[in-house]
Order: sequence, then structure tokens, then C-alpha cells
Amino acid sequence: MLRSNIWWLQGQDRDVVIDAGLGIVPLHREIPRMFERDPLLIITHTHLDHVGGAHEFKDIAVHDEEAHILITPGPVSLDTHTLYGILGIDVPPNEEPSMLRRVPNPGYDPTQYGLAPATPTRRLKDGDEITTLGTPMEVLATPGHSPGSICLYDHQRRWLFTGDTIYQGQLLDTIHGADQADYRRTMNLLSRLEVSAVFPGHGPGLGPGSLKTIADNYLSRS
Ligand SMILES: [Zn+2]
Ligand SMILES: [Zn+2]
Repeated sequence: MLRSNIWWLQGQDRDVVIDAGLGIVPLHREIPRMFERDPLLIITHTHLDHVGGAHEFKDIAVHDEEAHILITPGPVSLDTHTLYGILGIDVPPNEEPSMLRRVPNPGYDPTQYGLAPATPTRRLKDGDEITTLGTPMEVLATPGHSPGSICLYDHQRRWLFTGDTIYQGQLLDTIHGADQADYRRTMNLLSRLEVSAVFPGHGPGLGPGSLKTIADNYLSRS
């Protein structure tokens, strides 16, 4: 559940990184090249699996609604029962006691896991444009999974980065901060969007048909 995607986009002069992973290992150490061209980090939303490495970036954009969570992160845990408790949902049957399948090094202590505060340099709202890559990306406010969830839309390529709003698998719309009415409005918007490719926060990239299928399936639920 916490294995999330980091999308690294290389522009002419600067790079854009979308989401920062869980923060189990330092990104600077593991992917030093990602920091060479003054990257702008864009956070799709502030759940632990997307902001763990955020504090390593100097330039961070996040929706205004969740900027305070980046500055003052709430409690998090890699202990399954504790984490599900924080999220406000039941632990699924047969879940392992730890969210971590492997430790990065023998001395790693999962009980010491936490989120380091990060400083947003840009507070986003619906309709904002990010021009760091040369080709602009539009910020779409897509609340539902969380109040400040965003998608990023590259009009020219018709690429959509969706965070946890859209991915293959069970969408989380009952966790703390989620709002099903908002999610329905978001799915209405996304089901009508012209896309050529979708880059979600979890799992593989998706084609245009999958975006519409996932959104329409959500909307057809009573
Ligand atoms: Zn999330
Ligand atoms: Zn996630």
C-alpha cells in the first residue's frame, strides 16, 4: 500500500519531480542525479508515501489546502495496526504486522520512522500553471482522496499525473480527510478529460481508456 511512484521529468533547464516517496532511504544518496538540475518537487497530496522525501528538496509546490501538513506533519507509522488506526480504516484480513517487507540495511529500525518537516515554496490552487519544464502543466484541484489532492495535466502531450486520485486497484475514499461527494465531482471532471497517458501515484502507467473506466466505475457505484 505504501509503495508509491516518483515521477522524474527532465526539462530543458530544470527538472520536475512529482511526489517524493515514503522516505525510508535518503533520495539524495540513492538517486543523486535527480537533484542535479534544481528540481521542482510537486506533491500530489501529503500522505506519508508521497512526502517522505520532500524535506530533501529546496523548491516544493503543494496545494494550499495541505501546505500546513508538509510544514507540521502528523503522526505516521510503519506498524500496520497503528497506521490503519491513523488513517481511520479497518485493517484488512491477513495483513502483515509491518507495512515494510524488507529493511534497507540491517541496522534500520522501522519503529523510528517519521516524517521530517518540509517547507513549501509554492502554494497551488486550481488552474495554476507550472512552466518549469517549458511545456506548461495545469494544476487540477481533484479533492476526494484528500482535501488538497491535485492532478497535473500537460495539455500539449495530454499527459495526466493523478497521485492517489486515480490508479489501478482499490481507491481510498473513506480514510480520514477523504470526501466521497468531492471524489464524485472529481471523477466527473476526469472522465471527460482528453488524455493520451496517465501516470498514477501507485502501480503502472495507464492508457486513456483506463482513466475513463476507473472514473465511470466509481461514478456507477451507488
Ligand atoms: Zn494517499
Ligand atoms: Zn499513496
